[in-house]
Amino acid sequence: MTSRFHSVRLIEDKCRGCTNCLKHCPTEAIRVYDKRAHIIDERCIDCGECIRICDYHAKVAQTDTLEDIKRFPHPVALPAPTLYGQFRHLTDISVIYEALLSLGFKEVADVARGADVVTLAIRRALRDPQRPRPLISSACPTITRIIQVRYPALIPNIINLRQPMEVAAQIARRDYASKHGVAPEDIGIFFITPCAAKMTSIRSPIGHAKSAVDGAISILEIYGHIAPLVGKIKPAGKVPEFSPFGMGWAGSGGELDAAAPRNSIAVDGIDNVIRVLEEMDNNTITGFDYFEGSACLGGCVGGPLNFENNYLARNTIQTIQDAMPKTQPEQLVRSAELARDSLYFDQEIPPNDSMKLHESIAGAIERMEEMNRIIEELPGYDCGSCGSPTCRSFAEDIVRGNSSEHDCIYILKDTLKVMAQKMVDISKTKRE
Ligand code: SF4
Ligand code: SF4
Repeated sequence: MTSRFHSVRLIEDKCRGCTNCLKHCPTEAIRVYDKRAHIIDERCIDCGECIRICDYHAKVAQTDTLEDIKRFPHPVALPAPTLYGQFRHLTDISVIYEALLSLGFKEVADVARGADVVTLAIRRALRDPQRPRPLISSACPTITRIIQVRYPALIPNIINLRQPMEVAAQIARRDYASKHGVAPEDIGIFFITPCAAKMTSIRSPIGHAKSAVDGAISILEIYGHIAPLVGKIKPAGKVPEFSPFGMGWAGSGGELDAAAPRNSIAVDGIDNVIRVLEEMDNNTITGFDYFEGSACLGGCVGGPLNFENNYLARNTIQTIQDAMPKTQPEQLVRSAELARDSLYFDQEIPPNDSMKLHESIAGAIERMEEMNRIIEELPGYDCGSCGSPTCRSFAEDIVRGNSSEHDCIYILKDTLKVMAQKMVDISKTKRE
């Protein structure tokens, strides 16, 4: 598999090799050796769990910065609805528009507008009896990537729709170009992101070759710039160009509320999502139509690049939704937007084979048998001191040729004990 861009990075100088992150990685993509963590690129899904857990701030998300908007004559801000949840007691989002314009953006376009379009496309897909069930939301790129790595049999169930961020960026570019008579390539669309996964999906899209988004700036960075301004800006009372349902996509369950599929489930938090995907993969839960999974607790309001507590952010979003006109997505979405091919994937989603033990089935069986033999000899403490997250993954590292049994301190201790006994025996024999 070719290596791709990753937003999640390790700052080597800051890493103490403490192994805290090892056990929190959902794809076992971290190993610790030479006194520091190493990320296995092919396995990392940029979920950001290691960013949250690292006490030394050694894991970071690489994003664009406000400086980068200067690369384009016409930079446009594309806020995730989660941005509005960062400002307690906010009821009028035009305040945030004004603040963003003061940073140098020429216009603000909302991801929630793309969410309204995707909502209608989901409803249409659910009316098609030929589609597999359950359809799986493609909105959270972390969930799509974990399916690629751990549950490839579920790939056909992923709905072939681009993320609301992508759809909103296409609309924003078209609208801005026609309104101002400028070349589309002179417009720079910058997503204001709650997570590293979105940054990665802009640089390495899934299901399509190129992103409509030119860059992503973290909500944290934008918050730092505009928080001091917000209280000073007079609300302009601008009516949003999206429905309250589009806004609701910021929280877990928002997509279901908008698309209203019956027999559907929304699950948030990567461990919970894995539990449900595991059951879907084993066919032990069936009979529902749609699965909305969010890697972050509470949905995107719980993203690792947010400022506000996710519960308070969800509350603020709800307050904003309540203050909005009670429009439905179908009242606001132009029919042309739903007819565009660029709403859909134009590439297959490939499985990620990085967990495969061997290319051939025979080779994989052989390695599995070897792994089981090694596991029998390991203490089963899953202590992480070998640098692998569990004894099982350590055995896997050994059969892949990346570790040796003596990296296990317990095996090393036993080996040293045996050697010491042998030396004692030899010295006794010599004396005799
Ligand atoms: S971002 Fe997620 S998948 Fe990647 S190394 Fe960190 S915890 Fe593992
Ligand atoms: S739930 Fe939202 S914020 Fe979290 S990884 Fe998925 S898209 Fe990003």
